[in-house]
Amino acid sequence: MEIIRHIEGTRDYFAADAARFNRALRVAADIFARYGYSQTITPIFENTALFARAIGEATDIVSKEMYTFTPGSETITLRPEGTAGVIRAVLQHEIYKRTGLIKVWYAGPMFRRERPQKGRQRQFHQVGVEAVGSADPLLDVEVIALGIRYYEALGLNDVRLRLNTIGCLNEPCRPVYRQRLRQALQPLLPRLCKVCQERFDRNILRILDCKNSSCQEVVKDLPRSHEHTCDACREHFARVRESLEEQQISYNLDHTLVRGLDYYTNTVFEYTHAALGAQDAIGGGGRYDGLMKQLGGPDIPAVGFALGIERIMIALAAMPESKEAEAEAIDLYGIALGDDSRKAMAKILGQLRQAGLSADMDYEGKSLKAQLRSANKRGARLALILGNNELQRGEVIIKDLLHSGEQRSVLLAQCCDEIKTIFKCI
Ligand code: AMP
Repeated sequence: MEIIRHIEGTRDYFAADAARFNRALRVAADIFARYGYSQTITPIFENTALFARAIGEATDIVSKEMYTFTPGSETITLRPEGTAGVIRAVLQHEIYKRTGLIKVWYAGPMFRRERPQKGRQRQFHQVGVEAVGSADPLLDVEVIALGIRYYEALGLNDVRLRLNTIGCLNEPCRPVYRQRLRQALQPLLPRLCKVCQERFDRNILRILDCKNSSCQEVVKDLPRSHEHTCDACREHFARVRESLEEQQISYNLDHTLVRGLDYYTNTVFEYTHAALGAQDAIGGGGRYDGLMKQLGGPDIPAVGFALGIERIMIALAAMPESKEAEAEAIDLYGIALGDDSRKAMAKILGQLRQAGLSADMDYEGKSLKAQLRSANKRGARLALILGNNELQRGEVIIKDLLHSGEQRSVLLAQCCDEIKTIFKCI
């Protein structure tokens, strides 16, 4: 009988990959808290209408990538991104009435029915932050900087930042820019790819970030959004750029960056990493001042980002010494030969684990040499060696695997205390 395989575009994580995944979450929780963000946990499915209204009917995500089900009378969708759910929760529970500025973070799986390829999955994971309740450009900069600091904390120092503004939704701003784009693009339509020809009517801004080379050729001479925003948006963007420069955060101003979701206003940004190839965005975000109102709430400005964990993992794996640095090293490995020794070892390890140490042993009846190899492979600092001779003498050998390689015998009855003392000193 054939085995049942995973669904294309999903993946399983083991050992070092799972460790890398968890480290990405741990470091996020730690650094987000340091910047004053508290965790929010929302459901992984929501009413379909939420995403349609928040992300926009004409976007790729809503028009063709959502996993939508109608199990009974309701139509529900597996969340394709995190912001809509978080803002829905803030509105529903009226959290904005209780506190001033709301700073939250989230982590979890997202689902999009895209064509799978390297760095593009159908179930992937994101960590993200949302700061709701202020239009201060310094808050845009805090969020942008937080993303960079997070990558650095993980060891990714060569992340690049792309920056743009797409202006606000008000009359003299984005509508005017859209109109200018339309005028400039009309005569060039035949040079655009089929998808962009459709985007001309449905979602003209997305033409700017098309990956097709003939479209990119057309796009490079089009009017630039940061030159066509209203005065207030121009001022906002100037202050964002000024503060980024003051904080020595370098960026590339990129007029083709528009992001794929309708809710963005003003500042938009994306983090990229060279290790990723075609899908080089490892995270992105921006302001979304109109979203709360669009979802039926008050007019409250907000800014946030979402960072893709899988793409972070690809970038980390491409770093030279990342494998060793991240291997799930354990404190000690128990090497035992013979039934009685194995039983005694199991008991000792149980006590040491209760004392807070990480420990493991062989359960496959391997030879001494093979067990030593396992201990090294697991990165154990110490090996505890117990054969029949040692057992008869009431002793056990403690061997330093990481540094000196030295070994010595200690009394079996005292070995737990001895080991606890060693780990206290390290
Ligand atoms: P977005 O808001 O769509 O730009 O997503 C934010 C980040 O999530 C991206 O920069 C990627 O790192 C990650 N991401 C988005 N879609 C996928 C996907 N299909 N597979 C893996 N990661 C993704």
